[in-house]
Amino acid sequence: MRDQFGRTIEYMRVSVTDRCNLRCVYCMPAEGVPCVSHEEILSYDEITKICRIGADLGISRIKLTGGEPLVRRGLPELLGMINGIKGIEQVTLTTNGILLKEKMSELAANGLASVNISIDTLDEGRYEKITRGGRLREALAGMEAALSCPSVQVRVNCVPMREIPASDYIRIARLAEDRNIDVRFIEMMPVGHGKAFAAVSGGEITDMLRQEFGEVSECTGRTGNGPAVYVRFPGFKGRIGFIDAISHQFCGTCNRVRLTSEGFLKPCLQYGEGTDLKRLVRSGAPDETVRSEMQRVIYRKPACHHFTDGIYDNERKSGREEDDTRDKDGEEMLETRDMSQIGG
Ligand code: SAM
Ligand code: SF4
Repeated sequence: MRDQFGRTIEYMRVSVTDRCNLRCVYCMPAEGVPCVSHEEILSYDEITKICRIGADLGISRIKLTGGEPLVRRGLPELLGMINGIKGIEQVTLTTNGILLKEKMSELAANGLASVNISIDTLDEGRYEKITRGGRLREALAGMEAALSCPSVQVRVNCVPMREIPASDYIRIARLAEDRNIDVRFIEMMPVGHGKAFAAVSGGEITDMLRQEFGEVSECTGRTGNGPAVYVRFPGFKGRIGFIDAISHQFCGTCNRVRLTSEGFLKPCLQYGEGTDLKRLVRSGAPDETVRSEMQRVIYRKPACHHFTDGIYDNERKSGREEDDTRDKDGEEMLETRDMSQIGG
């Protein structure tokens, strides 16, 4: 369906849990976040129902995320359930990769189209520090398992930080040199614990990589579900992608909404507004009621995020009359939770 600004909304990121087996410094506090009880988390049947109603509204692609989606038991089964929905063309997964080796064949058997594996550095010590205890070799074993499934496209996602030396980004980009992998650099967003870290833009990373690998050529055409801009270095099998949500705001073409593990439908990452679909679904509301509520919230998706306050003041004035980003007192309802709780 189209929202009020004419954007086609076809992609839903579905968080299946807010729990995680890592504690990345920009995503979670060391002690973890207070866990939501099992009863508060949508069941697989409830998630599937919401995806089915979403498919009626034109959602054709689903990304399973979290927290760490693979810590939830039976995830491949959910994947299969969603893949079975008429109108759903693609189900993908974002994971830290730690549990991927053991789950990969089952995920592929249930129709996983692509997997994004988050690895911020290939330096074991720094990986352990960033993830607060994670073992790089387990994530890499997950990556190799994914690469051994020809039907699954593999991407590595890296969130660059100023604290990390340029040599790490060159090393991680090299994953795409002789493997069929897209390596994507995702700009740090000032969400939750991410606010404590300065972002490194794709432009800066490109400059670092150019010095090592030479001139880049831009890749054109549709390249996935989102706003990544891809380039290719000479001799590389895979591509290098950049997702710069802050320095190159792409809200004008944003095609996504999010469903939190507690069943809250969020049209924009930055704002706390949305609708409690779990309450509706559990109250026994007919599909038609759930559908119109989803339609209402998707339609009123905000024009753009305002992470870089001040810079977008004009859009702020012109684009904010008709959306739900303010409460009844006119106060902005900004998202206050971490990425692991929203479903990054
Ligand atoms: N646990 C899984 C993982 O790490 O891939 C899925 C959930 S995680 C929240 C999804 C992605 O969000 C990861 O690639 C992570 O690096 C990224 N992320 C978390 N906090 C972020 C932030 N503040 N800015 C940008 N990306 C962030
Ligand atoms: Fe866990 Fe992913 Fe957040 Fe890291 S980025 S703490 S792996 S949810």
